[in-house]
Amino acid sequence: MTTTSKNPLRIADIAVPGPFAGPLSYRIEPGQTPVPGSRCKVPLRSRQVVGVVTGVRPAQPGDSDTLKSIDDVLDDAPLLSPDVLQLAQWVSRYYLYDAYPAYMLAFPSALRSGETAELNDEPQLELTVSGEHLDPDKLKGRRQREALALLQSLTKAGQVCTPALLRRQDVERTHWKGLIDKRLLRQRPAQLFPASPTGTLRQQALALNPDQTAALATLPVEGFAVQLLEGVTGSGKTEVYLQAMQRALERGKRVLVLVPEIGLTPQTLARFQQRFQDRLVALHSGMTDKQRNNAWLRAQAGEASIILGTRSAILTPIPDLGLIVVDEEHDASYKQQDTLRYHARDLAIYRARLLNIPVMLGSATPSLESLHNAQQGRYQHQQLQQRAQGQTRARLETIDMRKQRQEHGVSERLLHRVRQHLEGGNQVLLFLNRRGYAPSWFCRQCGWMSDCPFCDARLTYHRGRHQMLCHHCGHQERPHQQCPECGSTDLTPLGAGTERAEEALAAWFPDTPIIRFDRDSVANARDLEQQLNRAQADGPAILVGTQMLAKGHHFERVTLVGIIDMDAGLFSADFRARERMGQLLVQVSGRSGRGDLAGEVVLQTFHPDHPFFTPLLEQDYPAFATQLLAERQRSGLPPFGYLACLRSDSAYPQRAEQLLKEMAGRLLAEPGIRVFGPLPALLSRRAGKHRFTLLVQSDQRSRLHTALQPLVADYPRQQRHVSWHLDIDPIDLM
Ligand code: ADP
Ligand code: ZN
Ligand code: ZN
Repeated sequence: MTTTSKNPLRIADIAVPGPFAGPLSYRIEPGQTPVPGSRCKVPLRSRQVVGVVTGVRPAQPGDSDTLKSIDDVLDDAPLLSPDVLQLAQWVSRYYLYDAYPAYMLAFPSALRSGETAELNDEPQLELTVSGEHLDPDKLKGRRQREALALLQSLTKAGQVCTPALLRRQDVERTHWKGLIDKRLLRQRPAQLFPASPTGTLRQQALALNPDQTAALATLPVEGFAVQLLEGVTGSGKTEVYLQAMQRALERGKRVLVLVPEIGLTPQTLARFQQRFQDRLVALHSGMTDKQRNNAWLRAQAGEASIILGTRSAILTPIPDLGLIVVDEEHDASYKQQDTLRYHARDLAIYRARLLNIPVMLGSATPSLESLHNAQQGRYQHQQLQQRAQGQTRARLETIDMRKQRQEHGVSERLLHRVRQHLEGGNQVLLFLNRRGYAPSWFCRQCGWMSDCPFCDARLTYHRGRHQMLCHHCGHQERPHQQCPECGSTDLTPLGAGTERAEEALAAWFPDTPIIRFDRDSVANARDLEQQLNRAQADGPAILVGTQMLAKGHHFERVTLVGIIDMDAGLFSADFRARERMGQLLVQVSGRSGRGDLAGEVVLQTFHPDHPFFTPLLEQDYPAFATQLLAERQRSGLPPFGYLACLRSDSAYPQRAEQLLKEMAGRLLAEPGIRVFGPLPALLSRRAGKHRFTLLVQSDQRSRLHTALQPLVADYPRQQRHVSWHLDIDPIDLM
C-alpha cells in the first residue's frame, strides 16, 4: 500500500453503472476533493463513466494497491444531500437492485450524463412600452414587421417570449435583433420562477371545518408521523395540505408534494400557485430536459420552497425539507413498473423517517396497505366526513344489463338518463375503461376473432386510423376483409371502446359537444389541458373516457356519471383487480355533484347482485375495504403477508418456466417461504415472448429478503434465451 504518513492515501466510494450492489473504490489524487453526493468521471473497464460519490475515507488494509484513480471531479459541492444518498442506498437494498440506477433516479437526465450543474435558462424577450404600442406597419423590413406583430400578440396573450418560442414560429434572431437596436424590445435574464397565472389574486386560507381542523391539529409540526387523510373528492383534503404546507413554510421549511402522473395538470399547479404565488417548481415528465434540469437545480439549491412533482421527484434533494405530501396515495402510477420497481409512497415514508418529519397521505380510496397501517396504529387516520362545501353525496344505482336493450354498449335506460341531464343544461360523464373502437374484430359466420400474432391477446379495432392495434406490444395491421378461417366477408367489430361510444353519442346527440379522454385523444399535458378547458365551458356536454377521467379533475357541471362497463374486474385472477376496481368506481362516482348540484351515478352491470358491489353501491368505501382486508388476511396476502413476484420471459416457454422452477426449488429450502407457481403469466405471451411468474410469500419481510438476495446475486437478469426480474411488493400481476 502506497501510504506515507505525510500523504495518507484517500479513497472515494463511487456508485458506477453495472450489476453492482454497492459502490466501487477509487483513489483520490492530490488536489481532488470529491465529497459524498458529488459526481465524478471515473474509469470502468475500458470506458469512462459518470459516478456518484457515496463516501470518502482513508485507505484501509483491505483496499487493493491497484485501485484506479478518479479522472475528474465534476462538482465542488455535493449535489445529492445525505438523506437522498441514504434513501437511494435503501432503495437499492430494499428492491434488491443495482445501486447505480437508484442514485441516478435522483438526477435529471442532463446531470446523469455528466453535464455541468448550472442553471441554463433562456433569456426572455420583453417588449418595451414603445414596442408594445408601435404599429408594426411603421417598420421598414417585412421580417421585422412580422416579428413585432408576433411579439405583440404573444404579449397580449400573456405569453412569456423566448428566442425558442419565436423560432418555433419561424422568427429567427436576425429578425428580432433589429427591434432591440430600436429599443422596441429588450432581453432580460429568465425569471427565477415562472410567473403566476396572470390576474390571479393571492388566495387566502379558508376557515377550516371541524374535520379539517382536527386533521391539521393532529399532524405534528415536527417529528416523524404519517397521517392518512381519507376523504371523498371535494371533502377538502387539498385545503388541509395547503395549510399544513403554509405552517411548514412559516417555520422556514420546504415542502415536497407528490401527485400521480396524470394529476399534475396546469389546474393543479395553478391551485398551488394561487396560494403560494411563487417559489414553487414543478417536476414531471411533460417538461423538457432543460426545464426539468433548471427546476431540479432550484430545488436542490433551496431557491424553491415548494416542489410539486410526480413519482421520481421523491428523490429530489431539498434543503430543510419539513413536510412531504402524497396526494392520491393509492394511485398505481407511484409504482414504477419497469427496471427498478420502486413505490414512491413507500420512499416518501422512508425519507420522512430519515429526516424525522411528518408525511401526509391523502386519498378518497386509500390503499389497503395504508388502511391496515392506520388500523395497526402506525399511522394517524383522519377522516373528512362531509364535503367541504356541503354538497350531498351522489346517489348510486345499478342497471341490470340482463334486462336491457342496448346499442354500442349503452342501455336504453342510461341513454334516457343522459338525455334528461343534458336537457337540464348539465354535463354527463361516461366511463368506459377501454380505448379504441372495439376490443375485437369478429366473424359472424364461424366466430373467428382477431388475435395478436405476438401476444396472447386480442387486437383492438381503432376506427380513426382503420387499424387493428395490440395494446400490449404495439403490433398493427389492417383489419381483415375476409375471414382467414372460413372465407366469409361477414366481419364486424365486437364490443365497444371509447371511440365507439363517442361515435354513437355524437349520432344520438348531434348538438352536444362530446369530449373524449383517453390515451388516443390525450397524448400529453397540453392535450389534457385543452380537453379540460372544453369541459369547463358553459352548457351541456358529454365527457367520455377511460380512467383518465377518474383522476382528481374537478368537473363542476357534471350531474350524471354513467359507468358503462366495470364487470371485468369482478372475475380477474389478479387479486389486486378488485381493489383497483372499487377504487375506480368510487373515484369516478366522485366526479359528479361537485358544484352546487347533487349528482347521480349509474352503473351498468350483468351482475347487479354481486356481493362485491354492495358496499360500493352504498358509497361505503371503508366497508368495502374492510371486506377486502378480511379476504386478504384469510389468504395471507398483502398487507398481511409480504409478496414478491419473479417474472421470466423467453422465446422458448420451457426456458422461461425452467428458470423459475429452479428458483422456486431454492426458495422452498428457505424457512418461512411459500411459493406459488411458476405459472404462465396472466398475459402469457407478449411481443413474441412467453412469460411466467412465480409468487413468493412470507409472513416476515426480512425472510423474504434473505431468501431472494442470493438469487439476485447468482442469476444475471439477462441470460441467453431468457431474462427475468424481481418485483418486490408487486401491484400488478399481469
Ligand atoms: P379535495 O382535495 O378533498 O378534493 P378540496 O380541498 O379541493 O377537496 O376542496 C373542495 C372544494 O371545497 C374546493 O373548491 C375548496 O376551495 C373548497 N373548500 C375546501 N375546504 C373548505 C372550507 N373549509 N371552507 C370552504 N370551502 C372549502
Ligand atoms: Zn369466419
Ligand atoms: Zn401484441
